[in-house]
Amino acid sequence: MKALNAAIVRTLPFVPKSIVRRFASRYVAGETLEEAMTLVTRLNAEGCMATLDVLGEDVTRREETEQTVLDYQKAIAEIAARRLDSNVSVKLTALGLKLDPAFCRTQFARIVEAARAQGNFVRIDMEDSSVTEETLRIYFEFREKYERVGIVLQAYLHRSPDDARRVTKVGGNVRVCKGIYVEPPQIAHQDRERIRQGFMEVVDLLLDAKSYVGIATHDPVLVQRALASVRRRGLSPQAYEFQMLLGVAGTLRRRLVAEGHRLRVYVPYGESWYAYSVRRLKENPSIAGQVLKGILSGGGGPR
Ligand SMILES: Cc1cc2nc3c(=O)[nH]c(=O)nc-3n(C[C@H](O)[C@H](O)[C@H](O)COP(=O)(O)OP(=O)(O)OC[C@H]3O[C@@H](n4cnc5c(N)ncnc54)[C@H](O)[C@@H]3O)c2cc1C
Repeated sequence: MKALNAAIVRTLPFVPKSIVRRFASRYVAGETLEEAMTLVTRLNAEGCMATLDVLGEDVTRREETEQTVLDYQKAIAEIAARRLDSNVSVKLTALGLKLDPAFCRTQFARIVEAARAQGNFVRIDMEDSSVTEETLRIYFEFREKYERVGIVLQAYLHRSPDDARRVTKVGGNVRVCKGIYVEPPQIAHQDRERIRQGFMEVVDLLLDAKSYVGIATHDPVLVQRALASVRRRGLSPQAYEFQMLLGVAGTLRRRLVAEGHRLRVYVPYGESWYAYSVRRLKENPSIAGQVLKGILSGGGGPR
């Protein structure tokens, strides 16, 4: 089965976009802001919060960042107009971080200003290790000017416990995730259980310092450990939230919501849906078979 799933993933470049789109509909809200708003409305009705991600990363020209800034500004205004419970998540490489960090700061400032005008929150996603330090530097700069800016720490990085200590000094709001980019052993733990330990080390460090933590995982083992950690400290559900990707682990998500935990769904949308969806499928070939089944039976699978 594993070999079959891997083979399906290898054939992706030859699969017509219209078919990939059916699979993508599970992971992506759609191409337009309107579709994203409809989905967030539904998630809010189910008791979930959301964070919107305008798809796109690593631009090669400054001009490419302009549309992204405008899209985020529009999204933030629309969230407010519809009184939805959603913030936004931003990748700094989509704003030119690798081209020119000063220019990236200017573009990011425009998004932060839009959020400030509505009292909303902006999370900076964490990308590959070539930009970890600069991303943190930008986070600390903006956090000084506007409290409602948050960051992400990746549990697989050896450096993350130290970064967590730095962040606690400013009382930050931190999403903790395992980390999605392929990194070498000198930089990142490779062993599954060691990554879990790193995850809990960072979560515990942040909770002890009274930082607000976004526990971003679909791993049932980690969810259990995080719940135990929260219980041991006697924390109220206002002190942390769980976070999950759209289309992943729906049953676990609904269970946590039913048990009274805050839960935020990461909702990507935009014209770059194709690249994002292919990446999701490559990360997790085991679902390729399920997707194929879903497509053959006429559906893209539940969100
Ligand atoms: C809200 C959110 C924000 C994130 N932001 C970042 C970020 O800024 N930077 C970063 O590097 N990484 C980010 N990630 C990705 C994260 O680092 C992991 O790669 C990803 O969440 C998988 O790890 P896991 O903890 O769910 O455990 P895993 O052990 O990888 O997954 C547990 C189970 O969940 C299911 N699952 C997990 N991921 C997927 C998927 N993509 N598609 C289908 N099923 C899946 C599978 O059934 C799997 O068995 C984010 C994840 C979440 C949930």
